[in-house]
Amino acid sequence: MGFIPVNEPLLNGNEKKYLCECIDTGWISSEGPFVAEFERQMSGIANRQYGIAVSNGTAALEIAARAIGIQEGDEVIMPAFTIISCAMAVTKLGGVPVLVDSDLYTWNMKAEEIEEKITERTKAIMMVHLYGLPANVDKIMELAKKHHLKVIEDAAEMHGQTYKGKPCGSFGDVSVFSFYPNKHITTGEGGMVVTDDEEVAARCRLLRNLCFRTDVRYVHDEISDNYRFTNLQAAVGLAQIERLSEFVERKRTMGRYYTQQFSAMPGVILPIPQTEYAKNIYWVYGMVLAQDIQMSNREVVKLLAEEGVGSRTFFWCMHEQPVYQKEGLFQNEKYENAEYLARKGFYIPSGLALTENIMEEVVKRVKKVMEKVK
Ligand SMILES: *Cc1c(COP(=O)(O)O)cnc(C)c1O
Repeated sequence: MGFIPVNEPLLNGNEKKYLCECIDTGWISSEGPFVAEFERQMSGIANRQYGIAVSNGTAALEIAARAIGIQEGDEVIMPAFTIISCAMAVTKLGGVPVLVDSDLYTWNMKAEEIEEKITERTKAIMMVHLYGLPANVDKIMELAKKHHLKVIEDAAEMHGQTYKGKPCGSFGDVSVFSFYPNKHITTGEGGMVVTDDEEVAARCRLLRNLCFRTDVRYVHDEISDNYRFTNLQAAVGLAQIERLSEFVERKRTMGRYYTQQFSAMPGVILPIPQTEYAKNIYWVYGMVLAQDIQMSNREVVKLLAEEGVGSRTFFWCMHEQPVYQKEGLFQNEKYENAEYLARKGFYIPSGLALTENIMEEVVKRVKKVMEKVK
């Protein structure tokens, strides 16, 4: 067996059929009929009234932040350990990300550290669910309510996941999904904002499409981007949605298998299978090097590549991003667990196209590499 890529999506349902429909009918742009249907179905999954499909999850976060009114000087609380899309959505509007540390075992933001970060400039909390387990939704929603803050929910990795039985993507003022190929549902590139707020939804529709004035076309009162989503993407998305529960189940089976195989392997902390409020859906199968290991995740990723296993390090913390340090943001800030996850976390092949045979081979190779990891 050759090199095993870190992610390979599964596209063997109705993807081809629906794509052919696009070609046959000529509907390939954002004006095609699959887009609205995909928005309807995806917002339904999140138990939301409105869905606005956009070109990617990063765009969805940007539009969401702008639509709920984040502006210059506004503070938005978010985890230090997350993807830069979260911070960018705020800094692009002149807002300030205010960071909190993460939990070492769920890898999500520590809800108990949020309240001390609230100031009179705090406008919102960005509640990000990471790697397969939801953040502490109840606690975060309670804080938001108490302090009259908006909540932007980043459910980019959470299609089909629930928190105490309610779908991720159903919480807060506005929620976003991504459909990048390593997410549970993919459209190649793609994203969506979902909300129950009619005004926010209307605002998102404007923002994704250059803010064309609705009364006269080609006349603009505001600047925004072209973040439109195409009928071709929606065609793939609709075929993927048909299999969402199968995909979530498959990911859980893969997670269980890896955990079983690695449970006796020294040197790593494995993802926790469940919390009291959710069962892990393993966005990707991540591991964190144990405290007694000197090597960094970057070195391990290199060793894995030499052994023919594709892997990736975890996200890099927001306060350690050179771009923000250059701007003078986050000076002398420290988030111990977040920094640990960024330096010690990595994930192994976890795409939906993985077969039992390949997973067995991954396990063999990972175990071999881990013997050299000190
Ligand atoms: C993937 C991801 C995004 C960004 O989505 P893109 O479609 O890649 O732009 C945002 N937030 C989280 C938590 C993600 O995992």
